[in-house]
Amino acid sequence: MVIFKTIAPLQAWLGVQKDFSANTGFVPTMGALHEGHLSIIRQCREEQILTVASIFINPTQFNNLSDYDKYPVTIEQDIRLLEQSGCDVLFLPSLKEMYPNGVAATFNYDLGDLEQKLEGKYRPGHFQGVCQVVQRLLEIVKSGHLYMGQKDYQQCMVIKKLLGIVGLPIQLHIVPTVRQENGLAMSSRNMRLDEEERKKAGSIYRQLMMIKKEKSNLTLSALKQKAIENLLADGFVKVDYVEIANAETLEPLTDTKSGIKAIALIAAYINDVRLIDNTELSDE
Ligand code: AMP
Repeated sequence: MVIFKTIAPLQAWLGVQKDFSANTGFVPTMGALHEGHLSIIRQCREEQILTVASIFINPTQFNNLSDYDKYPVTIEQDIRLLEQSGCDVLFLPSLKEMYPNGVAATFNYDLGDLEQKLEGKYRPGHFQGVCQVVQRLLEIVKSGHLYMGQKDYQQCMVIKKLLGIVGLPIQLHIVPTVRQENGLAMSSRNMRLDEEERKKAGSIYRQLMMIKKEKSNLTLSALKQKAIENLLADGFVKVDYVEIANAETLEPLTDTKSGIKAIALIAAYINDVRLIDNTELSDE
């Protein structure tokens, strides 16, 4: 794996490989890599000729500064894992390289309703920061394909919108969520949970499965209420939302009988660690 910390040599190297740029896949990450990230790398490798990953903890997407300060950094291990997974190129830029003019908000993406709800409501400015960094990275790497995880489903929808706004001809691939044995979605934030908390955190997945199973027996509002009560009983201290929404627009649904592809999404806290997860609710 070749590692670049600055843009010019990265682009010079990728320029050499330019015949492959349409078959280059890009996997942006914030590091502290786990199986979820690595499964994206592996899928990208299977489907594209060249796999480029980035590790950059983007300050502009953190609405909570202490979350940014506490974000885990495990760079040596990350490099080892990327190498083992067959990643071809790692872009590891500094803050200055990414934002030479500082991190001030000189951008304003019209994400419409998408950034008012769910994560957008609880993390004001988060998706603007995500769009800023992803646009910058895409303009640097110039890959034909972008790979992201379904775990951050709303983020995928935001990036789909961003690609339309900025007119970048890039194909977005959404990779299934990788989970621990108890169903807890892998996340860099899980490093902040002790063993007991990780056990409790499995309740998010259980509630998603409960919603899936019971969706034809209970009203959606009863389902959401039941999930919230179960999460609190299982040790979550706060539930930001349990929502059942149209999987395309993320508009909340009042019933699931209309043939619309639906998705259930949850955000909740185990002590001070905020976890999110989702599952599609298919019709079968
Ligand atoms: P992050 O480093 O948290 O910004 O995540 C980088 C990419 O990995 C994003 O596209 C995430 O959606 C994806 N990702 C994070 N956790 C998982 C997981 N458990 N399974 C699959 N993809 C994931």
